[in-house]
Amino acid sequence: KAIGIDAGGTLTKVAYLDQNNELVLTTFPSNDLQSVKSWIIDHPDIEDIGVTGGRTEQLLDVIKTMKSIHYIVEFEATLKGVRFLLNKEGYFFERSMITNIGTGTSIHYMEDNTHIRVGGTGVGGGTLIGLSALTTGITDYNEIREMAANGNRESIDLLVKDIYQGMDTPIDGHLTASNFGKVGITQSMKHPAEDIIATVQGLVGEVITTLSIQYAEEKNVQHIVYIGSTLSNNDHLARVIANYTRTKKHTPVFINDHGFSGAVGALLNI
Ligand code: ATP
Ligand code: MG
Repeated sequence: KAIGIDAGGTLTKVAYLDQNNELVLTTFPSNDLQSVKSWIIDHPDIEDIGVTGGRTEQLLDVIKTMKSIHYIVEFEATLKGVRFLLNKEGYFFERSMITNIGTGTSIHYMEDNTHIRVGGTGVGGGTLIGLSALTTGITDYNEIREMAANGNRESIDLLVKDIYQGMDTPIDGHLTASNFGKVGITQSMKHPAEDIIATVQGLVGEVITTLSIQYAEEKNVQHIVYIGSTLSNNDHLARVIANYTRTKKHTPVFINDHGFSGAVGALLNI
């Protein structure tokens, strides 16, 4: 049997096919690579391991000599995997942007079977957790995700229409003029943790979307495919990104198992 492993900054993703050719997916924290090794030992039928991701070297320190190892560069693996997952769902874009929201964010331009990394930002899933932790003390991703869904950004973010009171706005009034901008110019009040985290998530989503759209316009591309585990079960973040992308006249695309693109690519590379 063959498996693909993507050892990322935060999460290590594993992908393989079962007897029915169905994808099986599982994750481990990247700060506990021993658990990956134990899992491999528990699956003695594994012969080949495709590996990718920034933590590959650390992973190999733990699992090397175990099996036959096939390495593939992270961006190659991610794009190979995302192309596979897109096709599986019936999407065949000639040209598209791929935005991978991992610990940090990478943005790629994909055309047929080629791709280039056009840019990125340090604002990503790690920022969501880090800023949420610093502002509210909450560090658990699942808790952050749930609190963001129940939060309200209205009393923290400053919208364009909040500035242009009673006037026509020069751009869409519902766009954010200043993330967190209301706090400094209104009477200080206590903001619930849910609202702070929802606003952090809004900031992260909007920075990533704004940047992705700029590259999409530069490349004259309509569709932006958003992937990465930061979007896992995170409808609030997906909504921020989808709405902002549509407001700016582009088409957001979300696919199943998107967090495992790298692992799937590493598997396909064997
Ligand atoms: P990079 O690609 O930047 O090296 P990565 O591959 O580890 O990082 P992903 O796994 O795509 O990145 O996404 C990591 C992000 O996903 C985290 O920063 C966090 O916001 C979110 N996340 C989702 N599930 C979890 C989880 N169980 N534990 C921690 N973070 C999670
Ligand atoms: Mg990654």
